[in-house]
Amino acid sequence: YPFDYDSPASLAAFLEARGLSMQKRFGQNFLVSPGVRSKIVKLLELSKDDHVWEIGPGLGAMTHMVLGLCRNITVFEIDRGFISFLREHFSMVEGFELVEGDVMKNWQPAYTRFAPPSLIFGNLPYNCAASFIGDLIEAGANPRKMVFTIQKEVAERMSASPGTKRYGAFSMICAFSWDVRIAGIIKPGSFFPVPEVTSAIIEMVPHHRFSGLSAGLASTFAKDLFANRRKTVRNSLSGGILAARLGKNAILNAAEEAGIGLGQRGEEVSVEMVAKACGHLTDKFA
Ligand code: SAM
Repeated sequence: YPFDYDSPASLAAFLEARGLSMQKRFGQNFLVSPGVRSKIVKLLELSKDDHVWEIGPGLGAMTHMVLGLCRNITVFEIDRGFISFLREHFSMVEGFELVEGDVMKNWQPAYTRFAPPSLIFGNLPYNCAASFIGDLIEAGANPRKMVFTIQKEVAERMSASPGTKRYGAFSMICAFSWDVRIAGIIKPGSFFPVPEVTSAIIEMVPHHRFSGLSAGLASTFAKDLFANRRKTVRNSLSGGILAARLGKNAILNAAEEAGIGLGQRGEEVSVEMVAKACGHLTDKFA
């Protein structure tokens, strides 16, 4: 390689020589810690036949590690300069695909066009990490595992338990179909350029404890429940989208039947209870 992936000075010199610069608007911070990269690859538990998706490969630091362990990788990259470098270095490798442009627009068409991936990972740009993960969940993407590097605060929201400060609609939306775990914290100094925030590695493994649950219904219920954190469950649900659509009494009855106390706050309500309440509403929602 024409540079050292672990050295900010070497990366900076290479970028300058190619007339490239790191762009904040694309959340470009390269992981320059070989230890963290190895940890992520280990978490993926790759086998030869896996089809891996990598989001935001940058200059491919992780891409070639993954290619050493499995045959198929599809990468999604938006930056023109990085795209031309990736083409030069990987396009001759069999099993390598590059989807150019915005992953937010491109992932769904790719998901239906090719065989769905068995693993999805990436050191995600900060600006679209939460919405990308939310979209994958809502669309029912079903890989064996997902491993992402994201802002620590977002990782904490995703993996929060009831009764804690970070517990909210996003925690619930994740937990309906995924076991989410923080697998490591990454200090800002492990990136180049050094970001303002601390990051975390999040590991997501699908579970099937609520099979038959409508993702659209469940996520709307969760959002209604947390629309205003100070309100009681009764008030939140009464003023929510589901009440407007299915009737206030239907929602409140379903909640009570599922054991949700109407005088509680959203943060005290478990995912199991919401799944149960949604079970009572599925026919109406369809
Ligand atoms: N994978 C590299 C690493 O670990 O060092 C780079 C990670 S950097 C945090 C995020 C990467 O995502 C950059 O390469 C950036 O150009 C790319 N990116 C940002 N927004 C994107 C988008 N909407 N679609 C596809 N790629 C995007």
